[in-house]
Amino acid sequence: MNQGTVIKTYNSFYYVQTSQSVVTCTLRGRFKQERFSLLVGDVVRFNHIANEKGVIEEILPRRSMLKRPMVANVDQVLLTFAAVNPDISCILVDRFLALVELSGLPAILCINKMDMADSADIGKIVDRYRQIGYQVIQVSAKQAWSIDQLREILNDKVTVFAGPSGVGKSSLLNALQPGLTLTTGEVSKKIGRGRHTTRYAELLPLEAGGFVVDTPGFSFTEFTDIEENELMRCFPEFLPLLAKCRFSTCLHLKEPQCAVKDAVAAGSIFPERYDAYVALMAELRENRKGY
Ligand code: GDP
Ligand code: ZN
Repeated sequence: MNQGTVIKTYNSFYYVQTSQSVVTCTLRGRFKQERFSLLVGDVVRFNHIANEKGVIEEILPRRSMLKRPMVANVDQVLLTFAAVNPDISCILVDRFLALVELSGLPAILCINKMDMADSADIGKIVDRYRQIGYQVIQVSAKQAWSIDQLREILNDKVTVFAGPSGVGKSSLLNALQPGLTLTTGEVSKKIGRGRHTTRYAELLPLEAGGFVVDTPGFSFTEFTDIEENELMRCFPEFLPLLAKCRFSTCLHLKEPQCAVKDAVAAGSIFPERYDAYVALMAELRENRKGY
C-alpha cells in the first residue's frame, strides 16, 4: 500500500500527497459507516485503482488535532510579526502567544522586516520572549535574511502561519519557495464567529518536506471556550508558581499572598506579561457577558 498526507478535501474526494505526486482518493465504504471524519493533515494508506486515483484503506493515528480550523497532525505555529510597519506590539504578541498556548501547540515567534528595524529595540523584545522560553527568529523576507533558518524550522513539519495581516507572511513563504502563497483576505467580521468553517484549510507542500497550513479566515484572534481559571496556563512562566499561591483557586488578580504577583514585584516575571494576563482576563469576562 502507498502512504501519504491528505492535503485537501473536496466533496467526497481526498487529495493525498505522496513523495511523488498528488493522488485523488475516495474513502473505503466502512469508514463512511463509522462516520469517521477524515481531516486535512491525516496520514493515510491507500491502494491505487488507476493512474493518480486511489481508495483510502487505513488512517494512521493522529499526533494532534487543531480545532479551528480542523486540521490533524499540526506540529507548530509560526507566529509572525513585523519589527516595523506595522510596529510590533507586545500586547498583540502576548495575546497571540496565549491563544497558541491554548491550542496546545508549540509557538515560534518570527520577527520579519528586520531590514527596516532598529535592532537594539527589537533585541530587547527578542530577549524577553527567549527568557520566557520561546524560540525567536529574526528575518527579512525582502533581503532573504535567515530564510535558511526558517526553512530548517519548517522542514518535515506541519506548520500554521499566524499573525496580523501585513507583517509579511506571504512574502516569507514566497522567499522560502517562489510561487507559494497563502490565501489572502480575512473573512469579514460581519460574518460572525464560528462560521468561518465554511472554507476548509489546505496543506501547501514544501519542496524540502513538510507542509504549511493555508487557513483562510483564520487568525487566532478570539478568546472563546476558555474558563477564567484556564487563562493562567497560557502563560508558561506562571506555571511553576501556581502551587505556591495561598489559595488554590487564586486567579492572581486581587488575592493576597499570590506567588505570581510576588514574582512580578520581585522582577522575575515581566510586568508587561502580567499586564497582558490581566487585560486578557478582563476581555474574557467581557466576552462571556454576551452569552
Ligand atoms: P501578509 O499580509 O502577512 O501576508 O503580508 P505580505 O507578505 O502581503 O506583506 C505586506 C507588505 O510588507 C508588503 O508590501 C511587502 O512587500 C512588505 N514586506 C514583507 N516582508 C518584508 C520585509 O522583510 N521587509 C520589508 N521592508 N518589507 C516587507
Ligand atoms: Zn496567585
